[in-house]
Amino acid sequence: MSIVVGGGTGFVGKHFAKLGISKGFKIINVSRTAKPNCITWNDLSRSGLPDDCAAVVSLSGEPILQPFKWWTPEMKLKIRESRIDKVKLLNQAICAAPKPPGVFVSISGVGYYKPDAHKEYTESDIVEPFDFLSEVTRDWEAAAVLPSNVKTRLVVVRSGVVLGNDGGMVANIKTPFYFGLGGPIGSGKQWLPWIYVEDTVGIIMHAIENEHITGILNGTAPNPVTSEEFTKAYASALRRPHLFPMPAFVAKAVFGAEAAGVLLEGQKVLPKRTLEMGYTFKYTDIKWVCEKLVSS
Ligand code: NDP
Repeated sequence: MSIVVGGGTGFVGKHFAKLGISKGFKIINVSRTAKPNCITWNDLSRSGLPDDCAAVVSLSGEPILQPFKWWTPEMKLKIRESRIDKVKLLNQAICAAPKPPGVFVSISGVGYYKPDAHKEYTESDIVEPFDFLSEVTRDWEAAAVLPSNVKTRLVVVRSGVVLGNDGGMVANIKTPFYFGLGGPIGSGKQWLPWIYVEDTVGIIMHAIENEHITGILNGTAPNPVTSEEFTKAYASALRRPHLFPMPAFVAKAVFGAEAAGVLLEGQKVLPKRTLEMGYTFKYTDIKWVCEKLVSS
């Protein structure tokens, strides 16, 4: 059986492919460019899903935090279209399939929850958009919704910051931290809704393999930490000092004021429903995860 993964060529997708292949699935990535084990978005629109498609997974998205790539109107359009338009293409392919897959797992982000120093968010909280990213997330999740006559299950994984040595946030910070130039970001008191990448792909696979699961699952570790607790644990695992803070004005100069909000503010997000749906997290302790990040 095959799993079709939009944006599967990226950081999370590579880990998902490893897990999928170990379980005997054939992974078919959908990419903007033709490459081995990939079809293009045009191929998907032209030829549809393979007959043996068991699941479709959506992981596409222009990265939201890139040094000196500020959220200009052009960048905002890219952030929107790379998510929403690609989810729509997967949705259309599912609807057009003579034998639709059993499940559609679409990733989104915890940026849907408004940053708050005290509130604990779970999947049952009603969310209302309050800024650019939360508006994108609303439309991203809405684009995944299938018409009622299609029997494919929909699971949305609202992901926190995915930690892994080979991509995402850690790939951006490891060089300064390695040279002993790391430290807290902004006040350091903001929440960092983290998850280790093996759990991100574990949750996606759990949703595929368990037919009772539908709806929203928070993709965040059960023990949230503040940004400073993470940067301290990471510097300590690297055996480096934690001395050089990145003040808010530097974060704003590097990422632009709007995008820097993602680093300078955070939300405490708990995976209540993910746990209720039977997922067992492998990585729950940030110190242990940081040791793993350094040794892998
Ligand atoms: P990546 O940055 O690795 O990107 C995934 C894939 O998206 C890329 O391989 C690329 O595929 C495709 N892509 C990138 N830019 C564009 C674009 N402008 N237009 C169309 N496609 C594009 O993402 P991750 O693996 O880190 O994350 C996977 C998903 O999870 C993303 O949607 C991301 O927003 C979401 N997420 C990730 C978090 C994280 O911390 N990493 C946190 C919360 C959510 P190709 O080049 O083959 O077309």
